[in-house]
Amino acid sequence: MHLKTLTLKGFKSFASATTLRLQPGITCVVGPNGSGKSNVLDALTWVMGESSAKSLRGGKMEDVIFAGTTGAEGRAALGRAEVSLTIDNSDGALPIEFAEVTITRTMFRTGGSEYRINGQTCRLLDVQELLSDSGIGREMHVVVGQGQIDAVLHASPEERRAFVEEAAGVLKHRRRKEKALRKLDAMEANLTRVADLITEIR
Ligand code: ATP
Repeated sequence: MHLKTLTLKGFKSFASATTLRLQPGITCVVGPNGSGKSNVLDALTWVMGESSAKSLRGGKMEDVIFAGTTGAEGRAALGRAEVSLTIDNSDGALPIEFAEVTITRTMFRTGGSEYRINGQTCRLLDVQELLSDSGIGREMHVVVGQGQIDAVLHASPEERRAFVEEAAGVLKHRRRKEKALRKLDAMEANLTRVADLITEIR
């Protein structure tokens, strides 16, 4: 499994559609300060489901949409941001029957966003489930941003434990457990309601 292409369109400084083709092995992105290197990494975490605007170095999620530029070659702000990540899955590492998987996330300035897997609209949960055993994904700490090493070194023991749990793949099961507990709570409430009704009828 390896990342094949990343396409950004209207995402941060990438107003026009821009595709990065990645080869297996190491890829270096070089460029002057402010040219958009970190924006490429932001796009990678965003398409995999990042939901914290702060992690994407913005104030609100809408900040990922191209905000326009001034000057002679100025461009107007865009109404939506879209990022597509294509993963080579010829080794079947991802639990899906496709040799190539494209995950797309679109966000509209008017509100609302959507995810697609190989063109089919899906939920964020589907994207998370697809990536959860692969070692990549939103909370897998595979993208280490500037200053993050410091954050790990200064983390509390609880925070460090969370890092280890994520690396060990416990996250998916914790998420499932939380979902199951929520369902149990709802069921308890229903049972209480049924018990009340039975008392009323008697
Ligand atoms: P450095 O080497 O200094 O870390 P970098 O190459 O990583 O820089 P980025 O942080 O990726 O640069 O890009 C910053 C640029 O992206 C800034 O010029 C900023 O104005 C631009 N930018 C960020 N968000 C948007 C947006 N929503 N619309 C337009 N431009 C944006």
